[in-house]
Amino acid sequence: MKIAFYSCHSYEQPFLEAANANGRHQLTFLHQALTPQTAYLAAGHQAICVFVNDQLDQLTLKALADVGIRLVTLRCTGYNQVDVQVAQQLGIRVLRVPTYSPHSVAEHAVTLLMALNRKIHKAYQRTKRNNFTLDGLMGFDLYGKRIGIIGTGKIGVAFARIMLGFGCHVLAYDKVRSAVLQQLGVEYLPLDELLAESDVISLHCPLKSDTYHLINTAALARMKPGAYLINTSRGGLLDTPAVLKALQTGRLGALGMDVYELEDEFFFSDWSDKELPDADLNNLTHQPNVLVTSHQGFLTREAMQQIANTTLNNLTYLEHQRLPDDCVVVG
Ligand code: NAD
Repeated sequence: MKIAFYSCHSYEQPFLEAANANGRHQLTFLHQALTPQTAYLAAGHQAICVFVNDQLDQLTLKALADVGIRLVTLRCTGYNQVDVQVAQQLGIRVLRVPTYSPHSVAEHAVTLLMALNRKIHKAYQRTKRNNFTLDGLMGFDLYGKRIGIIGTGKIGVAFARIMLGFGCHVLAYDKVRSAVLQQLGVEYLPLDELLAESDVISLHCPLKSDTYHLINTAALARMKPGAYLINTSRGGLLDTPAVLKALQTGRLGALGMDVYELEDEFFFSDWSDKELPDADLNNLTHQPNVLVTSHQGFLTREAMQQIANTTLNNLTYLEHQRLPDDCVVVG
């Protein structure tokens, strides 16, 4: 199959080439993001492959259909960026990578939490300038603290296991309870109770209509004053202006974010010599108690390998009509 990879960066190309070492498929690597304006680049290919910030909205899907694309593969798990209904109407199949190292994202969430708590971002800047003072670097023991996890699927479970290893008391909210976590002593609570009782809250649920702005003014008002919030899931889970206000008033003690609601314009691009035309993102990156990473939770060798293998396998399976069900977003 001839496939065009949009938003393809130098760090992922070798993994995709290795997964196609047998030369079964013909891969075209494009740096451009997928937009209605770049859809024409797919002409002459049988499939395209996209990443988290490539929008598969009505206009883009229509432009893809116009150049003959009937197959889209996602190099990611979440598919909130896909207009599933329009894809169905246009007869475009959409496949995804249903699972890859949940440890990559869970460990990144822990990294954000640990760095924020022990002020590693500040200490790093200080010691670079030979400033070896400790004022303002006080953290707290995670041991014995209450960690609230919203969404206990693959990543939430991996995150919970790490927190249990730290000696934390882990609380959880999910409509589907994990039997494994319950056996390990994790306590499922209604959302309001979890918000009120947690010292740290980490989000691991997908972005859907019922989770959009899950952390809004009302949710923040229920949280413990000074609680830490970690979001490695999707930016749309947070009402950003409400979170910024909570950071300013001290209602939120700190925010670790790997995702941002309007990230598709900024993340994965170098804006260092330009003014950021997004006041909220600019404000967040300048807060001393906020750590922003630009959607890098997945960025481990193991995860990249699994994403590349599943993506290429999806195409091969498709040729043999043996596609695993959980890979299909639109069939
Ligand atoms: P998963 O499907 O295994 O688990 C999601 C869990 O969320 C499920 O248990 C589900 O029941 C639960 N859930 C659904 N709606 C909920 C709600 N309203 N309230 C509470 N829980 C709810 O998914 P996963 O592999 O664990 O991934 C979780 C999320 O992580 C993805 O949806 C994606 O947004 C994000 N993610 C981020 C990165 C990154 O690089 N930062 C990488 C991969 C995934």
